Amino acid sequence: MQEKNILKTPVRYIKGVGPRKGEYLTRLGIHTVEDILYYLPTRYDDRSRFTSIKELKVGEHQTVQGEIITLSSRLTKTGMPIFQIAITDQIGFIHAVWFNQPYLKDYLRKGQRVIIYGKVEMYDKLQIVQPEYEVLKTGEKDSINIGRIVPVYSLTGQLTQRYLRSLAFLAIMNYSKSLIERLPSYLIARAKVVDIKFAVRNIHFPVSFDNLEKAYRRIVFEEFFMLQLALAIKKKDVKFEESAFTFSLAGGLIDSFTKTIPFELTEGQKKAVSDIERDLSSGRPMNRLIEGDVGSGKTVVASYALVLAVQNGFQGVLMAPTEVLARQHFIGLSELLMPLGINIVLLIHGIDPKMRDKIYSEIREGRINIVVGTHAIIQEAVEFKRLGLVVIDEQHKFGVTQRAALRQKGYNPHVLVMTATPIPRTLALTVYGDLDISIIKEMPKGRRPITTYLVEEEKRGEVYNFIKEELNKGRQAYVVCPLIEKGAGYRVKGVGAEEVYEKLKSDVFPDYEVGLLHGRMSSREKEKVMKDFKKGKIKVLVSTIVIEVGIDIPNATVMLIENAERFGLAQLHQLRGRVGRGGHESYCILLANPRTEEARDRLKALEETLDGFQIAEADLNIRGPGEFFGTRQHGLPEIRFGNILKDFDIMEVARKEAFGLIAKDPNLAEEHHKLLKENLLSRFKGRLDLIKVG
Ligand code: ADP
Ligand code: MG
Repeated sequence: MQEKNILKTPVRYIKGVGPRKGEYLTRLGIHTVEDILYYLPTRYDDRSRFTSIKELKVGEHQTVQGEIITLSSRLTKTGMPIFQIAITDQIGFIHAVWFNQPYLKDYLRKGQRVIIYGKVEMYDKLQIVQPEYEVLKTGEKDSINIGRIVPVYSLTGQLTQRYLRSLAFLAIMNYSKSLIERLPSYLIARAKVVDIKFAVRNIHFPVSFDNLEKAYRRIVFEEFFMLQLALAIKKKDVKFEESAFTFSLAGGLIDSFTKTIPFELTEGQKKAVSDIERDLSSGRPMNRLIEGDVGSGKTVVASYALVLAVQNGFQGVLMAPTEVLARQHFIGLSELLMPLGINIVLLIHGIDPKMRDKIYSEIREGRINIVVGTHAIIQEAVEFKRLGLVVIDEQHKFGVTQRAALRQKGYNPHVLVMTATPIPRTLALTVYGDLDISIIKEMPKGRRPITTYLVEEEKRGEVYNFIKEELNKGRQAYVVCPLIEKGAGYRVKGVGAEEVYEKLKSDVFPDYEVGLLHGRMSSREKEKVMKDFKKGKIKVLVSTIVIEVGIDIPNATVMLIENAERFGLAQLHQLRGRVGRGGHESYCILLANPRTEEARDRLKALEETLDGFQIAEADLNIRGPGEFFGTRQHGLPEIRFGNILKDFDIMEVARKEAFGLIAKDPNLAEEHHKLLKENLLSRFKGRLDLIKVG
């Protein structure tokens, strides 16, 4: 394995890398020769042919080459230095303008040939503001920087494009021959990807865009393939676990339950139910995710599964992320299931210890059939007589890991996870690659579309009047704030629920009951407020994001969100889903002060569509997968090269191949899979904690 060591050569051994440059490279994550080879360009400049200035298209990002003919610097009224040059390609002229970079005047000279890149604008004359630039040496016949498709990297410190480019060039010339092909040759042939040497060479210095495309595809394929391999192994582990309880599907209890459901299930709900039935009767542990937009009716599906568990003599658990939601589930399930003779308890923090001990012993003795509560249930000292099913509501990432924890406690229940964050299919394949998925696409009949308005601060008065009209009609309203107390710091700027509550109560809606709900209140206080809101005693409920998920109050028709720009799109969509649950026309009002065009567009997207999947996709595009899932998301591995949205087709092929491979060679024991195994272990060490290979 001497060749492998060559790629691990520290960059500082390369000519031209001193301590200073080495330090900057480190900042970019480049420590070794291999790191350079895999430091992919962020974009490319086609310098094999330049657009002539006359042919530039206004509004597009383009690259121009020309000679500097004038330079000038001045100050704006506010004292900011502006530096400007004009360049010509003998046919046309264009200006380049930089703000706050006065040192440029010592660097750029009349007569120099330069390349500039940026968005071409027409502003009296053609110009590019704050362009990327590069000075060409006179008479340069340099084959790295000119006359070809040139890589452009992201930089730091005093590193320049040319420097990084020549470093990459050197690394490729001297080291790329040592790259080792990890993918078995049959896979390369079947997936129709190029080999790794070709890929790495062409990802930096492609001879054509066609080659670049092939190179990119190969590198992304390998990345996705390794990820899917990890997921396939994880999933296999679950499937191969000792068999789980086999539930029988027919029985008097489930029949009675079916009869009490007051509506007909939608197609998606029926499909989810039959998926669950298949799992529960298979003898293998269920590990299923139900994905369905807010209000699509996931609860009844979960209830069906719980009743099946009870019918088979098992206990079931329903966990929710918040107490408020747990309590609501408790009320809902009790109404449906108690008449059938099913015993249900609510288990949350802060119940009277005596009461709690009683509940504990009833659960232990098996007298309780279903326990509803927060995640605390499975962490605490609760002992079950016969736990057969765990349902987790609104938790993005659960599944295998916690399942393993439960198994350690001696339980091996079926697991059903429900989420209302509509996860684009691409991402689902990545994050939930180890779960089976049922999607509930359509809404129950009779839902009215919710009208959404994006409103600025000046219109606040009108908004309040509008809410008053709804209240006069007997409806109720939510007002959601980003914070409990008003924040003024950089990270915590925004409106506070307490302050809004005071103001609404005394100034705006003095004739109506206004309530306050936030996470710092005690369980008892929260419970009282929710009850009063549900009963219609409280008309306007001011709250923080605690009501984000699951709350079901059909009489509420207005959702007003303060500082809407501070929430993620998926979150806003969730909040919006709190209204429109009864037969009344409903509204979501986003009060926002978006500072940037982008922020405004983001919120506009919400005004324009009610489709959660579309919104999630937009959110994901804007914020990236890490942010999208917020801190709740743990298991998402870093994806460096590919784009899980744009490269969906590659992900699908990678997934098919990876799952096929694991089915045939579950322990990666075959000789031609040896390198895959090594790589997998080093790549996912400590991240996908359950991976056991061999
Ligand atoms: P979510 O998927 O957001 O958890 P819920 O399960 O809370 O949605 O259901 C939202 C509302 O829709 C509830 O009031 C529920 O009773 C009702 N519902 C569910 N399924 C149907 C259906 N098939 N037809 C009519 N109403 C339904
Ligand atoms: Mg729900």
